[in-house]
Amino acid sequence: MLDILRKIVQEVDSAPTLLTALDVIVVNVQEALSTEVCSIYLLDERSNRYVLMATRGLNPDAVGVVSLGLSEGLVGLVGQREELINLEEASAHPKYRYLPETGEERYGSFLGVPIMHRRKVLGVLVVQQQEKRRFGEAEEAFLVTLSAQISGVVAHARALGQLDNLHAPKNINSPRIFHGVAGASGIAMGRAVVIYPPADIDSVPDRGVEDIDSELAQLNQALNAVRAEMQMLGNKMTASLMPEERALFDVYLSMLDDNALGGEIADKIRSGNWAQGALRAVIDEHMQSFAAMDDPYLRERMADVRDLGRRILAHLQKQASTTRDYSENSILIGDEISTATLVETPLESIAAIVTTTGAANSHMAIVARALGIPTVVGVAELPVSSLDDAEMIVDAYQSRVYVHPSRELRKRYKEIIREERQLVAGLDAYRDLPAETPDGHKVVLYVNTGLMADVARARDRGAEGVGLYRSEIPFMLRDRFPSEEEQRTIYRQQLTAFEPRPVTMRTLDIGGDKDLPYFPINEVNPALGWRGIRITLDHPEIFLVQMRAMLKASIGLNNLQIMLPMVSSVFEIEEAQHLIHRALTEVQEEEKAEIPMPKLGIMIEVPAVLLQIRELAGMVDFVSVGSNDLTQYLLAVDRNNSRVADLYTSYHPAVLRALQYIVNECHAIDKPVGICGEMAGDPGTAILLMAMGFDSLSMSASNLLKIRKVVRTVPLATGKRLLAQALGVDNAAVIRSMMELELNNMGLWDIVRPTQRPVGGKLPS
Ligand code: PEP
Ligand code: MG
Repeated sequence: MLDILRKIVQEVDSAPTLLTALDVIVVNVQEALSTEVCSIYLLDERSNRYVLMATRGLNPDAVGVVSLGLSEGLVGLVGQREELINLEEASAHPKYRYLPETGEERYGSFLGVPIMHRRKVLGVLVVQQQEKRRFGEAEEAFLVTLSAQISGVVAHARALGQLDNLHAPKNINSPRIFHGVAGASGIAMGRAVVIYPPADIDSVPDRGVEDIDSELAQLNQALNAVRAEMQMLGNKMTASLMPEERALFDVYLSMLDDNALGGEIADKIRSGNWAQGALRAVIDEHMQSFAAMDDPYLRERMADVRDLGRRILAHLQKQASTTRDYSENSILIGDEISTATLVETPLESIAAIVTTTGAANSHMAIVARALGIPTVVGVAELPVSSLDDAEMIVDAYQSRVYVHPSRELRKRYKEIIREERQLVAGLDAYRDLPAETPDGHKVVLYVNTGLMADVARARDRGAEGVGLYRSEIPFMLRDRFPSEEEQRTIYRQQLTAFEPRPVTMRTLDIGGDKDLPYFPINEVNPALGWRGIRITLDHPEIFLVQMRAMLKASIGLNNLQIMLPMVSSVFEIEEAQHLIHRALTEVQEEEKAEIPMPKLGIMIEVPAVLLQIRELAGMVDFVSVGSNDLTQYLLAVDRNNSRVADLYTSYHPAVLRALQYIVNECHAIDKPVGICGEMAGDPGTAILLMAMGFDSLSMSASNLLKIRKVVRTVPLATGKRLLAQALGVDNAAVIRSMMELELNNMGLWDIVRPTQRPVGGKLPS
């Protein structure tokens, strides 16, 4: 069964259209289960009916014609119940509905399984048989597994608009909306630039070319380079392989010829695709025909073709200029865009970012927020490879992405962008005003930095210091560890820019989702693995260099504070203190300077710290809550996983209660406690944090003015009332809505969601 399943999934993956994929499924399932009928019904979103889209066994003319209402027939019942139905005698069931066009009256037994994606029924997979019998458990399990596997393909087709009107499939260039999760707020309009990992053949986009001859020349060069590689490998194997085994290399070579892969790729280039896109298309086609073969030996050849494809691609990419043309208002789209890739792009040209994976608190999203680039992540259904250069609108306030937007929508969004600029200009008035509530409570607002670009924006917006300097960011931008002197220069810039205000430098926090390209960490469960302080204590040579660089950078400025990430145990603080003291003594001797010991703090990110908080906080000068990770660990929800993004919320009652507890405990032992996770920059949660008594809120520069306006608008007494209410509610969504409603009532709606007016002005959708 597993073999059949694998074969079906491979064939479905490489099918060029949804209809072919569905056909592949029904043919294979009918054969594998030896049933008389296998059919797939998909939900047509416009008519709200299940349309027969593929069948083996029923009248083929009924495909695309026969349909059932949402609660009609056994198919409707499977959709309504969202679970499989297995009947020995279908016609005896009260819901049974006879459809003469399908010629199904001869079939007695029925097994229907819903095709579900993200809790939504997309269709129903059905097998039927003349003989009255219950399908067995193994058959049930097979269909359920298969349906789960194909749901992604159907969802993808749905995103392309192919399921909107199943009787007349749409052109993929028609306007489409995709939903994701907001990574950094804002709106932008522009054209898509696909970012894809090198040598990942599946993600190469199609791209039209004018200079066909130049593409053909590049292809030829790449083919020659791969031929040379193959010959070299063949020669190398002379001693260890038998001649007939070595013949494989000759097969490889002949596959590159004009009458094989080479010629097919050239044909596709001549029809207007660029060399890399033509290569991907040809490899795709071959994958598909291999997958259809029953012979396991021949199917294994798939791997060879793929390997050849990757080799050709690597050479093509080597030739392609690494500097892409980023026109103004480029919208970066990709399955995954790393922080390093983002920072390497000409940031002034980047209008927005959209990724199919990731979640609101992925590091790339945090950096995008710091840079003020509207970002939507986790747009799982975005057909990235077909969107290069497509016109797009990114509305991160509503977590939406519009592809090929209509003229009216573009017009409306131009207006919204103009209004947003006015709003931002209006916020400028808050630059020089103190962050003080109308009832006289002062709130310390710090900024989170990482790049030098953050610094100017933060100072411009009146940050009172740096609550979190993510020291790993400069490490991510290099191809090796920065030297002590390089680090000193970078840290000095940060410290000088804010002096005499405090700059809290976090020690290197890599691991988890923050990989350095030159220090890869491959772990099954990176969030619970080797990360943060765990790595630096295992590598004192890295930690000591960083501490020495920070201490040297602080000479004469004395505004450095050091903060340790991911602390979970007393011994980690003791060891870090020991190393910092050692670095201090060394630097003092070397520099012949009196350098004061900087204040030392810990981040609270690991829930265990809550149960030992007085002991741990008692060892240091200050505490800062890393609510991004604390939320992840408290709720056991991966902060980077778009599948569980709905569950990741800092409004969760457990998170709010934990935060209040932390403040109370720290204040009980007179330890200042701040917060530097993203919730400090969210207007709704910022009010609650202020009311909890946090001594400082640290946020990205792009949120500083908004939060200052919130602080200046909401009296502390109101904040406390809202907090008391929130702490009594058991549901995150209710707390969030309550806060949004209050913000609206206080005239702050524009700050929360400028593109969704609760009163007046409705957006076209
Ligand atoms: C946090 O976890 O809240 C935090 C500020 O650190 P980072 O987002 O860099 O992991
Ligand atoms: Mg963290």
